[in-house]
Amino acid sequence: MTAFLTQPSVAPADPSWWFADAMKQEAGQPPSPSLSGEIAVDVAIVGGGYTGLWTALALKARKPGLSVALIEAGLCGAGASGKNGGKAHGYWSALTGVANSIGDDAALAVARAGTVAQDGLRAFATAPGRDVWWREAGNIRISAAPAQDAKIASYVDTARRLGVPETARELTPEQVASYCRSPAFRGGVFLQEGANLHPARLARALRKAAIEAGVMLFENTPMTGLDKASPNRVHTPKGQIIARDVVLATNAALAAERRIKPHVTVFSSFALMTEPAPEKLVAMGWLRDEGISDMRMFVHYFRKTIDGRVLMGSGSGPISYGGGATAARLCEDTASALRAERGLRRLLPGLNDVAVAKAWGGPIDISADRLPFFKTMPGTRVHYGCGFSGHGVNPTYIGGQCLASLVLDQNDMWSNLPLCTRALPSLPPEPFRYYGGRAIRRAVLACEDAEERGRTAPLLATAVAALPRLFGLRIGTR
Ligand SMILES: Cc1cc2nc3c(=O)[nH]c(=O)nc-3n(C[C@H](O)[C@H](O)[C@H](O)COP(=O)(O)OP(=O)(O)OC[C@H]3O[C@@H](n4cnc5c(N)ncnc54)[C@H](O)[C@@H]3O)c2cc1C
Repeated sequence: MTAFLTQPSVAPADPSWWFADAMKQEAGQPPSPSLSGEIAVDVAIVGGGYTGLWTALALKARKPGLSVALIEAGLCGAGASGKNGGKAHGYWSALTGVANSIGDDAALAVARAGTVAQDGLRAFATAPGRDVWWREAGNIRISAAPAQDAKIASYVDTARRLGVPETARELTPEQVASYCRSPAFRGGVFLQEGANLHPARLARALRKAAIEAGVMLFENTPMTGLDKASPNRVHTPKGQIIARDVVLATNAALAAERRIKPHVTVFSSFALMTEPAPEKLVAMGWLRDEGISDMRMFVHYFRKTIDGRVLMGSGSGPISYGGGATAARLCEDTASALRAERGLRRLLPGLNDVAVAKAWGGPIDISADRLPFFKTMPGTRVHYGCGFSGHGVNPTYIGGQCLASLVLDQNDMWSNLPLCTRALPSLPPEPFRYYGGRAIRRAVLACEDAEERGRTAPLLATAVAALPRLFGLRIGTR
């Protein structure tokens, strides 16, 4: 079936399956009001995704008397937070790359912070009255081509070298098959930290919790301008917020900011949701709730839902020029949706006759070292956080804590994380970034496709795909 698929069976479009489901669940409830007139608060937060909402909750938890307003351009959770794969884990699974970028001790500090975040997420998601489909069974990276086999050892070796062997356990092909059977799966690695959840319901539950905590929340209220002063002034179409501190939590939109542009580029990720097929999952022996991904650089990530659907994602969407996050193709690229569907049919052939219910895509904010950062603009009380690099469900909790510490001038575990303190590496400037990134993306896709088919990758593609490593970059590196 894979070979014959030349168009995705469903064209990608918003809203995501998740967000539509979350809205259905809330049917009849009106959005929060939009801002009209002028208000004065201690802290104004811009962006109602996980980052902004966790920041608001962290601030209210630490200082209940603080006045906090949050504005969201559309509806809370309609951005990446309501359309992601819902795979929640910290940084143990990325230890090799993180250690290469920031050193062993810093990598361990970040990974431990991710575990604190996972505890926080679990506590929030499983609190009575919340239904965000939290299921925790770890994560598996599988090799789906001989060329991917070598990566297995790097997980296990790094975990052993850094004294945390329990975080990554090698799996033989037979052990992989005991989690889920597929002719495409080879060996793999089991990563103990990992949960699946319903991303949009999480975002909406965070919104509800923020309102209950006393955050003044305004939806359909875009920030149209910001005067950085003391106090700051946030402009919106029909009002203004005067605030001592401002937190910018607008995700990929931040990549176009002068100060952030050198460090962040915008790619996109695409996902699809199948119709329910619980009996097929049983037939494949996929009985538990592990998240699974292959070992491509343009990774296929997949997981089950509690009603027996499968989400399959492909982190291979187009790159944008100059950090722009609004180009339609970042959400509508049919070639990327096709790659997600081909991934579904190849990796999980047991689902070959199961229809796709919905496909969608969205921009992701890729930082030069693939780690997020949380900072304050020098000489101002404007703070910002982005650079999640397609991995934000767990790290946005870290972001909320870090940004709260920056707002409150707290010298604590969060504000001392390398995510707040490291000097940020830069990416090449435009137009090299866009044209170079596009060429490298094509070359890597060609190599990974050839490897999956058991063919030798074209020579030119192999050479171009090797360039990022040659130049010491961390993005585009296989
Ligand atoms: C298809 C896809 C799959 C993914 N899968 C995973 C996964 O499985 N696991 C994982 O860990 N991560 C995943 N991610 C990444 C993860 O979703 C993000 O890193 C995370 O949601 C970022 O949260 P955020 O709050 O920073 O951004 P967002 O959720 O995008 O929130 C930012 C908000 O700011 C608002 N905004 C923008 N500009 C303005 C303005 N001027 N005024 C007011 N509001 C504004 C936007 O409307 C938006 O709601 C995925 C991402 C995508 C796109």
